[in-house]
Amino acid sequence: MMGKVCAIFGGSRGIGKAVAELLERKGCHVAIVARNLEVAQNTAHSLGAGHLALSCDISREQEVQHAFEEIQRKLGPINYLVNAAGINKDGLLLRTKTEDMVSQIHTNLLGTMFTCKAAVKSMIHHQGGAIVNIGSVVGLKGNSGQSIYSASKAGIVGFSRSLAKEVARKQIRVNVVAPGFIHTEMTAHLEEDELKKAIPLGRFGDPHEVAKAVLFLLESPYVTGSTLIVDGGLQLSI
Ligand code: NDP
Repeated sequence: MMGKVCAIFGGSRGIGKAVAELLERKGCHVAIVARNLEVAQNTAHSLGAGHLALSCDISREQEVQHAFEEIQRKLGPINYLVNAAGINKDGLLLRTKTEDMVSQIHTNLLGTMFTCKAAVKSMIHHQGGAIVNIGSVVGLKGNSGQSIYSASKAGIVGFSRSLAKEVARKQIRVNVVAPGFIHTEMTAHLEEDELKKAIPLGRFGDPHEVAKAVLFLLESPYVTGSTLIVDGGLQLSI
């Protein structure tokens, strides 16, 4: 991985930041992309020299295209893409506002499509690459109060599997990591003591444990179209 260029959308904190730290240790040049530039810059600085921070709203295709142009101009052709940008607006369907449905689908699903499209365009011209999209175990199993979020994450699986078929001949691989409950800002408000009873390993995961799965998929030359579940066994009990 030494010297490879990786764009990490949602790399400023949580799971994306853990991926950035691991890839930096592997010798990658990392572009941290998120809406809040200051937080992205702090993360990029904490990695050391040779990394980049950019502000971009993944749900806006033009901003995504500009981000890719900027990354390639400053770091060179993109070898890896990790999509860890995501939001959740939990609630029962009947209480969910249309704008909250739209923002989850735009950010989680359309955003993934926009970044993958831009990455594939570049990878086709540079001997292939690898993409890892972050889904969720609820996209596979469903969860009451998360119907829209689950739909966005299930969509990522179908999208990634189809794209994997489309681009395999160009030596581009596309895989998904589906985490369970992971300690980040997204889960900070949850009742861990109650929820961990359903997790066979008995605890929430750490972002670095998800990062290891992302690294495995980026590095595995014969794996494409896969979904790797990283959930402490949660999917076995829900
Ligand atoms: P965090 O809330 O900690 O981080 C989310 C990241 O995404 C931040 O960098 C944020 O930066 C960025 N982001 C959010 N919206 C946008 C946007 N519109 N454009 C660009 N960047 C954006 O979340 P996690 O690290 O927990 O989650 C990472 C991914 O993992 C998400 O897709 C989430 O759905 C998924 N996941 C998380 C689980 C968990 O338990 N934590 C479980 C299963 C899946 P900024 O706000 O500055 O834009």
